[in-house]
Amino acid sequence: MSGNKVYLDYAATTPVDERVLQAMLPYFQERFGNPSSVHSWGQAAESALEASRESVAQTLNCQPDEVVFTSCGSESDNLALRGVALAAREQRGAPHILISPVEHHAVSHTALDLARQMQFDVELLPVDEWGKVHAQSVAERLRPETALVSVMYANNEIGTVNPIAEIAAVCRQAGIPFHTDAVQAAAYLPTDVQSLQVDLMSIGAHKFYGPKGVGALFVRRGTRISAVQTGGSQEHDLRAGTHNIPLIVGLAAALRLAQEQREHRAGWLKPLRDRLIGRILEEIPESQLTGHPIDRMPNHASFVFRRADGNTLLMLLDVAGFACSSGSACKTGDPEPSDVLLALGMPREWALGSLRVTLGLSTTSDDIESFLAVLPEMVARARRLSAVEE
Ligand SMILES: *Cc1c(COP(=O)(O)O)cnc(C)c1O
Repeated sequence: MSGNKVYLDYAATTPVDERVLQAMLPYFQERFGNPSSVHSWGQAAESALEASRESVAQTLNCQPDEVVFTSCGSESDNLALRGVALAAREQRGAPHILISPVEHHAVSHTALDLARQMQFDVELLPVDEWGKVHAQSVAERLRPETALVSVMYANNEIGTVNPIAEIAAVCRQAGIPFHTDAVQAAAYLPTDVQSLQVDLMSIGAHKFYGPKGVGALFVRRGTRISAVQTGGSQEHDLRAGTHNIPLIVGLAAALRLAQEQREHRAGWLKPLRDRLIGRILEEIPESQLTGHPIDRMPNHASFVFRRADGNTLLMLLDVAGFACSSGSACKTGDPEPSDVLLALGMPREWALGSLRVTLGLSTTSDDIESFLAVLPEMVARARRLSAVEE
């Protein structure tokens, strides 16, 4: 970035990969057609759309007609939850929704909205101290009248990776649709929907070096789902609106690169992450890792520091030239402890002092060293300032 600043917030968003940008550029001007048009401009756009769909389907190991392009990860989550819940109510009278208590707001607030506006009965699954959902606890709570189950693949705030294939197997056996929010996971974890056995899976391009404002939802053939956005017949009648071809082309290119280079990228980042975690826990008193120590995103480190205000710490770090987060980007400026940390049973005096450090493809070991050189002093300072405020 600019000057000596170090960006360590890649779970919030990533820059667009140069190759992805080059793939997108022609579709803003020379090839600007609407794929729904009959003429040759339309046909050129249509073939770019179908090539992108084909590429995404190959990467996810599914059929092209199982891919729905959306405007972001949040929209994919909305379509999955609302679309499947509405269809399940209509077809089977099913009013029960099961989600984890550590979902991104795109899932949790959507489920709450379905409860408030449409009287769905939303039940929260238990999680362990690392925020992990176990397949057994899903099995124990499935009912014939369950409309759908939604459990995130990897947690954006604490990095924990869930056993998605096991949870999906339990749901499949009971004949209940299973959705996973893979928006964070898709950058570094396998996204083969056949091995994962999921019925629906959300992704969003800007988390894996693609552009902002575009996402996709995998919907397995035979899954009953209603449209949420109505109008034209785009996206198999599931999502009306003129296709954003440049962004769709960008998503397909970025997803392909992410999955092709997955192991290489993870192999580079993991040792940097582990060095960061090890040194912080060693050097900063009253510090704790949040999320699972092993089953976590390869680029993700997250902590709590007792009696230190997380937002103060973020501001001090920003002034020192380091961009981090206290958890979910959407919560910045919110003085309340995060729902996710509270769901883990973490006491307030710990939960208020959260810090998320997420690495990316241009992170170097020098970045990590310079961050480690300032962090202990910044935490000490945040603790002194928080003590004054109290
Ligand atoms: C970022 C994120 C979302 C939202 O995706 P957008 O494309 O920003 O709408 C949803 N779920 C998780 C887990 C995320 O990390």
